[in-house]
Amino acid sequence: MGNNIVIGAGITGLFFGYFSKESCIIFEKETIAGGLCKSIKDSGFIFDYSGHFIHIKDQKIKKLLEKIIGKKLLKVKRNASIYFEGISIPFPFQANLYYLNEKEKQECIEGVKNRKNVKIYDDMPFIDWSKAMFGDGITKYFMQPYNQKLWSCDLKKLTASWTAPFVPKPTAQSIIDAAYRINSINYGYNSEFYYPPENGCGDVAESLFKKLKDIILTDTKVENIDWKNKMIYAGYKKYQYNNLISTQPLIELIKQLHNPPKQILQSLKNLSVTSVRCINIGIRYKKDIPELIQNKHWIYFPEDKYPFYRVGIYSNVSPKLVPKKCYSLYVEFSSNNNSYEQCEDTVKYLKQAGIMNVDDEIVALSVVDMPYAYVVFDKKRKKALEHINKFLNKNNIYTIGRYGAWEYSFIEKNIVDAKNLALKLTNQK
Ligand SMILES: Cc1cc2nc3c(=O)[nH]c(=O)nc-3n(C[C@H](O)[C@H](O)[C@H](O)COP(=O)(O)OP(=O)(O)OC[C@H]3O[C@@H](n4cnc5c(N)ncnc54)[C@H](O)[C@@H]3O)c2cc1C
Repeated sequence: MGNNIVIGAGITGLFFGYFSKESCIIFEKETIAGGLCKSIKDSGFIFDYSGHFIHIKDQKIKKLLEKIIGKKLLKVKRNASIYFEGISIPFPFQANLYYLNEKEKQECIEGVKNRKNVKIYDDMPFIDWSKAMFGDGITKYFMQPYNQKLWSCDLKKLTASWTAPFVPKPTAQSIIDAAYRINSINYGYNSEFYYPPENGCGDVAESLFKKLKDIILTDTKVENIDWKNKMIYAGYKKYQYNNLISTQPLIELIKQLHNPPKQILQSLKNLSVTSVRCINIGIRYKKDIPELIQNKHWIYFPEDKYPFYRVGIYSNVSPKLVPKKCYSLYVEFSSNNNSYEQCEDTVKYLKQAGIMNVDDEIVALSVVDMPYAYVVFDKKRKKALEHINKFLNKNNIYTIGRYGAWEYSFIEKNIVDAKNLALKLTNQK
């Protein structure tokens, strides 16, 4: 069975520990487990690291999560929209042209009708893919500006290979039909989602941490890896492993390896990432929560005049996350160099957009920075990953999780991948 060492007690590391029947040691650099799936308590509010809602395909995962937290998960029907030219358009944009002003609507319809018949392939440039799928108008008014804000990178380099589960793809006919009458189809992988009823998303990691606490060393950062002799160095001690399972960002893992082959360092240069800053705000209203956000879970902002790309309303997902007469928001900014110039004016912009009433009172406000947030899918990524993984696996190092695998994944996939690797490495069926 061997000696399995895990780096990181985020959701992936925790579930690796759970499925390996605790036959491993987990090193966690922070004092608490959970990684990006932690929740924060502040002045009676509970915030996540921006909205962390659980999208579940496999009902067995739902049952498992309910067993772990000891409560039923809330089932929520998504109510998301796009704020564009002062209008609230239901998500997804491409299936709701009905709500647009006449000029933009006609341009989008013409765009769909006049799409060029080009070959669609996985890693084609994202903008070409968008024009081929949805036409020039939808690309111009939503796909291009929104994705520019979200990815904060040169969109010419971004491929379409991340879009499969995330971007709803109505047929051309459905797009046109939905320009003339209200669409009733709930598109997307997140049209329904689940959420712990109390304590935020962090309830899952907290509950699992309590169960696994004997195998987790918190406040212990893995600093170095002697991959030739299968040793890690953490907290001034060294530990021998048979298998090393890393859930930290792949870039950090490679930097910790003692003298890795030059080609691996070369491949490292081909990995790039977008960072996110989330501003969590707890607000007491005077009369009522603003009309624009009533019952909404999140709103996308494609226009340049707003510096954030998305604002979510935690308190509409679960009212238990806020004190009475309050609502709570997460406001997301992205960056490719960890600088967020316009975020200081967040409240001004929220009021301008009608997301906050001018006379509401801010009760809590905190900032969460996520330097690793969205792995950039460019042409170089796939080859670099194949190369790095081949080297790592040959040396009994496995890199999993959203930033370990260097992918665009979510909680359910992280759990499934942790389970599969744990069963394999502990010889369970
Ligand atoms: C803005 C944003 C919104 C998201 N929304 C959702 C959502 O709504 N639903 C959803 O399913 N997913 C969402 N995700 C994705 C979700 O956050 C990830 O899939 C998940 O948190 C990945 O967990 P992980 O354990 O793989 O990585 P992480 O959460 O990054 O955990 C890695 C752990 O390793 C530890 N660590 C790092 N380096 C070391 C070291 N050297 N030594 C010891 N420990 C170390 C870290 O402290 C951390 O605890 C979102 C992500 C972002 C960025």
